[in-house]
Parts: sequence; structure tokens; C-alpha cells
Amino acid sequence: MPGYDLVIKNGTVVDPSQGIHAKKDVAISGGTIQAIEDYISDGDARDVIEADGLIVTPGLVDLHVHIWWGVAHLAIEADPTSLARGATTVVDAGSSGSNTFPGFRRYVMENINTRSYAFLHISGMGQLDRDIGELEDIRWARVDRAVETANANADLIVGIKVRLSEGIVGANDVVALERASEAAHQIGVPLMIHIGGTNHPLEEIFGKLRSGDIVTHSFTATPPGIITDGGAVLPAALEARERGVNFDVGHGAGSFGFKVAEAAMNHGFNPATISSDVHRYNVSGPVFDLATTLSKFMHLGLSLDDVIRLGTQAPATAIHREDIVGSLKVGAVADVSMFDLREGPVEFTDARGDVRNGNQLLVPIETVRAGRRFSPFHGHHHDHVVPSGF
Ligand SMILES: [Zn+2]
Repeated sequence: MPGYDLVIKNGTVVDPSQGIHAKKDVAISGGTIQAIEDYISDGDARDVIEADGLIVTPGLVDLHVHIWWGVAHLAIEADPTSLARGATTVVDAGSSGSNTFPGFRRYVMENINTRSYAFLHISGMGQLDRDIGELEDIRWARVDRAVETANANADLIVGIKVRLSEGIVGANDVVALERASEAAHQIGVPLMIHIGGTNHPLEEIFGKLRSGDIVTHSFTATPPGIITDGGAVLPAALEARERGVNFDVGHGAGSFGFKVAEAAMNHGFNPATISSDVHRYNVSGPVFDLATTLSKFMHLGLSLDDVIRLGTQAPATAIHREDIVGSLKVGAVADVSMFDLREGPVEFTDARGDVRNGNQLLVPIETVRAGRRFSPFHGHHHDHVVPSGF
């Protein structure tokens, strides 16, 4: 019998989709998971990774990134910033719209090693410019164009995105939301909305969301936010969550406050998914990558198993791709991440510059995507190279 292509030996496998947290070996052939057992012989294996002392997880799924490099102003290249940092699957959150998606698909999504999906922006231009908001002119929000593009690319477009901050949409937030919601409804995919700095109150905005829709930047410290002046969770947020709306993190450069997250989580309002919103303006800090964002939520009180679930199975389910990614079950595609859970003082900074002193950091060590090995950056954790020059 021929041996496996790759065996990952002696790691601590944490796979919440199967309720596994134990020392296991993982065998891979033909780009899929062949076995997870307490002991798998690597005698005939073509390649072996010794993972003793490492955490072995399903490849992380980052629900909010920006990778339309060279076109969307904030975008970065996916492979060095996600795949090499433990996120084998990413979902681009609105960098492209119906006008620009064909190029995004052909020149980025089909040419990178990171597995990628997209939320299509309801604005045809996507997130083109830093200073001119994509929906200041509401004519860019065309339901028919978005529906046509999404239906023609249903393998990769998993949702619709809209950003509702006043600096981006002016006073158009509610009409932009209604058009995005209508498009998502016609396509049959979730809507992701970006909050923080909306012109209209969140009660009105959350009231328009359906079950399965996603709020990103849930813990933004830019008002209006989900915490009331009295320190409680906004009733409209509780009611939306009750209705099946998923509250995502989307850390970003201005959209995650420790104080807000602490207040929310003290009231039991935990995120449904943890995403990084890693982009050009935060990849060198304070976000760095999804693994660092997960580590921040361990500092906020979630367990290792919790954060791995919220960075694998939960986002995979949110985009209805849980049969493809987010699990190490036998037969699944072999996307695997390995981390060193480093113990020791670590300074965590939120999007406001507030600092918390933690003592655990998930450091990406090696990534396997469809059975192929990818090494991490070997530089210092905070030394990413940010693409520039456009
Ligand atoms: Zn974003």
C-alpha cells in the first residue's frame, strides 16, 4: 500500500467542528484529509511534519479581509498576509463591486494560493478610494447589476457588502442598506453591513437585517455602537442576535475597541465570528493577522477551542461553505494550520490605541493548503512587509 503524501505527527489537534481537542496524527493524500488517529505510521509517507508542541487546527477562515491589491485602496496581497499567517481561506469584504469583480476574479482570486471568496459590494466600484466614499453618489448602488454579477459568479460570491458610515455614504445609509438587502435577498446570500459612524440610529439599521445577515465591526468604538451610554448592550442588538443576525468582529484600523468588547462580553454578548479586517492600514499593527485577533479574544476570556471555532467552523457556516472548509473531518480538503501557543507577556493594541497586557499569543508556524505546505514569514511577528507603490 503506498504511503500518505503527508503526515502531521504529534500535534495537539483542535477541531471544534468534530469536538476534538487531543494529541492526534493527521494523514493527507491527494489534497484531502485521509485520517485523524491517535497514531498514524509515517513509515511510507512522502513527507512528515513533526508538530509536537504545536496546535493543529483546520485552516483558519478569515471572514473579513481586503485583497483586491492595486485596485481597492486598502487592499493587500493575500498569500503573505493570510495564507502564510494561518488563514487558508479568506472572504474579501467588498473590495470589489459589479464593475470591478470580473478583474478581481481573474487577476487575483484565480491566481493566489489562498482560498478566497467575496462579499460583493453593492457599490459597483467597490472600495476604490480612501477619500471619496463609494456611495456618496447613491447611483453606484444598483441592485440589478449586483444580482447579475453575483449569479454569474455564484461559486465565489458568498454575500453582499455595504458600508454605512457617514463618511462613506453621507446620509444615504438607510437607502444603501435597503438596496444591498434587496440584492442579497434576490440572490439568496447573507448581507454583511459595516457599522460605526452611521447617520441613522442602529435601531433602524438592525431592524432591517434578516436571519443570517452579518454585522461587522460589532465592537467599534465609533458611535453609534452596540453599547448604550449606561454600559448595557443595545436592546436592538440583542433582538437582532435573537433573530439570527451574526455579530462579527472585523477588527480593522478603526473598528475594534477593547472597552466595547469587554462591556459586551461581560453581558454575554460574544462575537458569532472573529475576523481581522486586515488591510494596508493595519497589517503592520494593530491587527497584524487573524491569529493575533484570535489571541486578543483569548485575552478577553474565550478559550482556545472557542476562538478556533469562531475562526474556522463559524465563519465557514456563516458563508454556507461549512462542507468545504473549517473542518479536518476525513474527506475534507486538507487545509491545516499549525500554531505555537506562545506563553509570555504580550501587548495587545486595539484600533483606538488602547493597550491590554496579555500572556498568550497564537503564532503561525506552518500552513497546509489543499495538501501543499506553505511556510510562514520568518521575520519578527511585527515585521510585515506592506505592499506599496500604487
Ligand atoms: Zn473592511
